[in-house]
Amino acid sequence: MTAAPPAVPTASEWRIGETVPWVVAWTGEDRFGLDASPLFQGYDEARQIEQPGQGAPLLKGMHLERQRRGLVQHLCQVCGRPTPPRDRFIFPTVAGRFVPLPSGELRYASNMPPLHLRCAERAQRLCPGVRKTGGQPVPLPKAGGTIAPQFELPAGMEPLAGMAQGRRVIFSYYLVQSAGFTREVQRLLR
Ligand SMILES: [Zn+2]
Repeated sequence: MTAAPPAVPTASEWRIGETVPWVVAWTGEDRFGLDASPLFQGYDEARQIEQPGQGAPLLKGMHLERQRRGLVQHLCQVCGRPTPPRDRFIFPTVAGRFVPLPSGELRYASNMPPLHLRCAERAQRLCPGVRKTGGQPVPLPKAGGTIAPQFELPAGMEPLAGMAQGRRVIFSYYLVQSAGFTREVQRLLR
């Protein structure tokens, strides 16, 4: 007999930071706009109204602004609180990809904000994606990595396709990791 998969939380069970990750968007956060990017000069970024807890959680996607703030400020994707360097983890075998540098060298990169170890253990119990893959939390290097802009529409944000109107709009950020961490992820995936 196998363990039953975790049930999607019902409305009475929605608690941000516990059954609903801080980083997810809610159906009530459906107003969007454009503003100048604070990090990448000359580019616009998609803005999204912030009203977490309004409506229902969209568990498959991330809120645009919480995603970017989470990466830049190292905020935990589950509870939203800062992760100190010694308690900053990700699930590199569950999410992320390898991106080429101009030199052609591949580096591991991910758009997922970090997690506290305790919050990662909660995700291992409650998050279907993590459970399915048996993902293990791996400490992030203290050096931090490099933030890069992502112009593709994130999952679940397809209705915003018309927003860019031919311009290059930044929807999210991703974090490009060091050569050493990239080798570690490649080893874990073998
Ligand atoms: Zn946390």
